[in-house]
Amino acid sequence: MKKAVYSIMVIAVIFATGCNNTKTNNTAEKKSEFKISEDDINETIRQIKEIHTDKESFRIEKGVKQVAALWQETDGDLQAFNTFCVENFVADSASLLIAYNKLERNFELLFGYYNTMTVKLMEPLHLDMGEIHFVDEVMGAYSVSSHINEDLFSNKLAFYVVLNFPSYSLEEKIKNSEKWSRLDWAFARMGDLFISRVPSELLQNASVASTNADTYIADYNIYMGNLVNKDLKTYFPSDMVLITHWGLRDELKSNYNSQNGLEKQKVIFNVMMRIVSQEIPSEIINNDGYQWDPIANKLYKDGKETKFTPEPYTRYEHLLHNFKALSAMDPYNPIYPTYIQRAFDQSMELTQKEIETLFIDFITSPQIKEVAALIKSRLGRDLEPFDIWYNGFTPRTSVNEEELNQITRRKYPNPQAFDNDIPRMLQELGWSREKAIYIANKISVDPARGAGHAWGAQMKGDVAHLRTRVGKNGMDYKGYNIATHELGHNVEQTITLYDIDYYMLAGVPNTAFTEAVAFMFQGNDLKLLGRPNPTNKSETEALAALDNCWSAYEIMGVSLVDMYVWQWMYENPDANAKELQEAVEKIAKDVWNKYYYPVLGTKDCPLLAIYSHMITSPLYLANYPVGHLIEFQVEQYVQDKKFSDEITRMLLQGRIIPQQWMMGAVGSKISGQPTLNAVSQALKIIK
Ligand SMILES: [Zn+2]
Repeated sequence: MKKAVYSIMVIAVIFATGCNNTKTNNTAEKKSEFKISEDDINETIRQIKEIHTDKESFRIEKGVKQVAALWQETDGDLQAFNTFCVENFVADSASLLIAYNKLERNFELLFGYYNTMTVKLMEPLHLDMGEIHFVDEVMGAYSVSSHINEDLFSNKLAFYVVLNFPSYSLEEKIKNSEKWSRLDWAFARMGDLFISRVPSELLQNASVASTNADTYIADYNIYMGNLVNKDLKTYFPSDMVLITHWGLRDELKSNYNSQNGLEKQKVIFNVMMRIVSQEIPSEIINNDGYQWDPIANKLYKDGKETKFTPEPYTRYEHLLHNFKALSAMDPYNPIYPTYIQRAFDQSMELTQKEIETLFIDFITSPQIKEVAALIKSRLGRDLEPFDIWYNGFTPRTSVNEEELNQITRRKYPNPQAFDNDIPRMLQELGWSREKAIYIANKISVDPARGAGHAWGAQMKGDVAHLRTRVGKNGMDYKGYNIATHELGHNVEQTITLYDIDYYMLAGVPNTAFTEAVAFMFQGNDLKLLGRPNPTNKSETEALAALDNCWSAYEIMGVSLVDMYVWQWMYENPDANAKELQEAVEKIAKDVWNKYYYPVLGTKDCPLLAIYSHMITSPLYLANYPVGHLIEFQVEQYVQDKKFSDEITRMLLQGRIIPQQWMMGAVGSKISGQPTLNAVSQALKIIK
């Protein structure tokens, strides 16, 4: 449910990002001291101004300064810099448009084919294609586009772009957002393409670190039938194999109404705690040869207790590798010199401070305690830490999951069956038959090895991929539920690529928006299954508000932990994996004690550190809660209108900045207040 949803620009920056701790330091030291002086920059500006009218002054100054900031010794001497700028500045708007169109076509080709190659090379890692071979791992980790930046600087195309389509800071974009035309936005987005100059070996290193972390998590399965209590009794079926943390969490959530539900939840909770602390026996990871009592942390072989080796901080090694790989690029990013800034200001286009404030305001609001009290009374017991995943506010829990499993298994015996059903599902959501087929034809459903994800195309003519895990007996309801989420991503990816006015504006402002669309699709899963929707509309809405609030509350904490861990890594760049584990646990407990202990009880719980995203997708997590808020605002707006029309209208705004997109979509900025207001109303209805 993560990744591969990066928009086009981010591709140039992140898709090609990289780490190998032995090499990185040397490269950083090699950074050239060559710098073009202020006087020389001004002289070049003066010469260009002499040729053109005053009207172009602003662009000339901005373009030349930005070229100078990126120009290195190997690009040529001062004279070469001067000549390049004077000869290549494009003043008149007709010529500029011609240049834009040519560049746009070329970028679509480059990004599109690089993306296709990456999709194909990673297939053995992502799809169920048998045992992963050495070749699969090496080629899956190989970043085909890692040299593109370097190449385009060395043939001067990047400088041509920077000179004529300069980049604007987040602040400038906000200031201009009212007056910019669609074309102005497209130009500005082109200007975002070349704001850093990271050596390809660093990009390649980060790609390796990221793929290794992905593979580690994708193969981190727990054989649930081997989990036992102190009497060696198991509560789970022998064929149940769950991936951390998604599978574990979803199983925990599904046990609110089941037999022995609370016992099962406690077992799963303890598995999670052992993963966070790395006390988990290595022997039971992805292996069904042992039995394990996660509460007492005892391992059994054929019913006899046996010694074990705790996992040797591997989880945190991966996090550390990602940190080293990504922070090695800092010196090459003059505008956003830390990965934290690149993840927030640059990628999300919301500052970390802005997001932190948004989250803390939300999770400390009085409504949270009221919702917790309601959950407590509904459960008839004191709250447990894992009740951050309470899912009783969805009408979904009132239906029998086994019954749903039967329906989904019958309907979708294989991925192809789901693929074939997409046109019907889209029509159900309001698209015309013709449009539904048009969109569906651009989506391919593939059998996933991991939990599933969506991977968009980057050029017209290519398809988006929906990866889903279908068991031998067909798709179970959980898999189906996730697949409807991924379908939302694919629909967004398709509309914003194929139907957008300018390729440079393809996509959405940041991943929170694609998540919002995905969650809206997921919210329609029962309707798409032909199950009658609950009849009491106001009750359904009230439940949805409570559910959205509670899941935002949960994941905002997870995201704060993620943020603070990255701050800690920046403050302690030489820490080892064990020290990092201790820090993560401490940070998770601190966040818990501040914002969760007062609501749920139980002090010092590090549960918020269990998310796999922390390991595989650095600083991605904030996108989810922001997505929850956006989703709620958008959903509220859409509810009395036609879903397909409104979603299409909103998506065709493309990749402008987040707050402007929201203004255009629903008439207000991103805010937790609509959710909290709805919660106050809901608390009057739901008892
Ligand atoms: Zn998603």
